[in-house]
Amino acid sequence: MKAAFFTGAKQPFTFQDVAVPEPGPGEVRIRCHASGICGTDAHYWDGTLPLQSPWVLGHEPVGTIDALGDGVTHLREGDRVGVSWVQEGCGRCGFCQRRKPDYCDDQYSWMNLGGGHAEYMIARAAGCTLLPDGLDWAVAAPLFCAGYTVMSGYRNAQAKPGDRVGVIGIGGLGHLLVQVAKAYGHEVVAITSSENKREEARQLGADEVLVVKEHAGKALADMGGVDVAISTSNDMKHNSQVIEGIRHEGKLVSMAISKEKMEIDPLFLLDHQIRIIGSQQCGREDLVEILGLAASGKVKPMLECYPLEAVNEVMQRLAEGKVRYRAVLTHECG
Ligand SMILES: [Zn+2]
Ligand SMILES: [Zn+2]
Repeated sequence: MKAAFFTGAKQPFTFQDVAVPEPGPGEVRIRCHASGICGTDAHYWDGTLPLQSPWVLGHEPVGTIDALGDGVTHLREGDRVGVSWVQEGCGRCGFCQRRKPDYCDDQYSWMNLGGGHAEYMIARAAGCTLLPDGLDWAVAAPLFCAGYTVMSGYRNAQAKPGDRVGVIGIGGLGHLLVQVAKAYGHEVVAITSSENKREEARQLGADEVLVVKEHAGKALADMGGVDVAISTSNDMKHNSQVIEGIRHEGKLVSMAISKEKMEIDPLFLLDHQIRIIGSQQCGREDLVEILGLAASGKVKPMLECYPLEAVNEVMQRLAEGKVRYRAVLTHECG
């Protein structure tokens, strides 16, 4: 089978023909149909995050199960599935005992089983989630990281009916989050630093768009503020400023990955009784929920699709910030 191998930081991926892998006990083999490319992949590719090499990336894979390992009973050959980053925990630690494998230190993921930038991959059966009927492969792929992440962010925000929701950053994650918040009936303010995203944010469903020119929080307060601000942006200056645009007893949910710090005025937090919440993928029910929203047409990822062979070109586009929302590799399947 053909697989795209990461061979080291800033090195081009190389294509190699390797044996089709066999699933071990508790595992399945998946014929990959599509594999999303995430911002995190760029961090591995440029060496910001360490990764062994050679290795196959791809933590947003979807495909058809074509072989079952021993002991797999709940999945069948031919099932359409996707695989999330955390597939299964060790089963024995305190977190696993509480059915919280996302916190386990010894979990199965693409980093020890290999990812979806290949014709076939191996996954833990416990890491597979069935796709709703009719959901397109390329549409489903980015939901396994980007979609799952924003759904957990929305859940952690615990926005109440009638709450006005601010979405900070209108990119791969934010463009999905605007649609999720609209699907649940909120008035949505899209907060971006890109003037050229104003119109698209409206088309995604945002009721108002704040293009940040100076102080994000003061401008947001001038627009009436929000009850909940959910950040998908790594711009820590904007994330810090936005707090001043959050209403009393409101919340900021942060999904940023940055080495910079947030700057917070403790008196403002106290006066307004604002809560700051960190959020990542946590709870498979969030993944199932966003798959359902996509299957019903309420959430539509905006995609750039490429053949698997174009992985180097796509990583280059991602590194240069040219991928506008989400890139997906689609695999030719016989
Ligand atoms: Zn990801
Ligand atoms: Zn564990």
